[in-house]
Amino acid sequence: MHAITSLEVLCTFLNLDLVQRQRLVSLPSFPLLLPMRLAQKIQKGTLEDPILKQFVPLQEETLQSVGYSLNPVGDQEAKQTKCLLKKYQQRALLITTGACAMNCRFCFRRSFDYPGRSDFAKEIALIQTDTSLREIILSGGDPLSLSNKALNRLISQLDQIPHLKRLRFHTRFPLGYPERLDQEFLDILTHTRLQVWFVLHSNHPKELDNEVFSALQRLPCPKLCQTVLLKGVNDHPDILKELCETLVDHGILPYYLHQLDKVEGAHHFEVEESLGKSLIEHLNQNLSGYAVPRYVKEIAGAGHKITI
Ligand code: SF4
Repeated sequence: MHAITSLEVLCTFLNLDLVQRQRLVSLPSFPLLLPMRLAQKIQKGTLEDPILKQFVPLQEETLQSVGYSLNPVGDQEAKQTKCLLKKYQQRALLITTGACAMNCRFCFRRSFDYPGRSDFAKEIALIQTDTSLREIILSGGDPLSLSNKALNRLISQLDQIPHLKRLRFHTRFPLGYPERLDQEFLDILTHTRLQVWFVLHSNHPKELDNEVFSALQRLPCPKLCQTVLLKGVNDHPDILKELCETLVDHGILPYYLHQLDKVEGAHHFEVEESLGKSLIEHLNQNLSGYAVPRYVKEIAGAGHKITI
């Protein structure tokens, strides 16, 4: 089994008791998807494990909360096509797929209306016309859910657009399947004329290990990490410090510490901004400047991320 998709299997695998099982949503609208290699790192017999918390559907998800919506960061308004979003100058974001290696309960696109398979013809045409663009952000879903063949086709097309300079991946895939960074994928990155940036999304040091780092170290491009500040997962100075330090030790720059996007079903992950600021202060006191991520939030309609 590569991933756990059934609550029954998860509960049995983790030896959860009846009381713990009753805290779960039996038929979540956003399905359970947890890669086995992450499941194997979870402490058994508790719901408090920081990896489990990110993937387990809890009853709290079903409660309504003021200020939380299905479209928290203005994705709908930024759509130029079903797959192309433009929020910022010089950059456009391509929704490459709705598929992910794992389903994170705090995902701001957990209710996104993903299109089906696409050859991106409309998107490529628009990118060709918009000469203000310099960078394409491959997002989703998770862009590494695409096959190498599909990625190669897409990147080759982007490669031929003269005003583009950069390509950025945002992914959590290597945490579940480090082997996804295979030789064929590395060759694709090596052969594009575009400068590539690789942004890993990791929220807790337990998600990282030597196999993940070995895979990342083979990438022929700069590597950054984006982290979502999550209550009960990483809202602790020692955890964040360990995460940032471990990343830097392996040549990965902590890029953003992101305030939770207020998507319906995720309010139980929210951390007060005052706590977030004190966590950053702790990092500043203890780590080199480059090891401290920027604490940011996204506000729908703003032309850039807002530093908190
Ligand atoms: S898009 Fe990213 S945050 Fe959302 S479910 Fe997929 S991997 Fe998780």
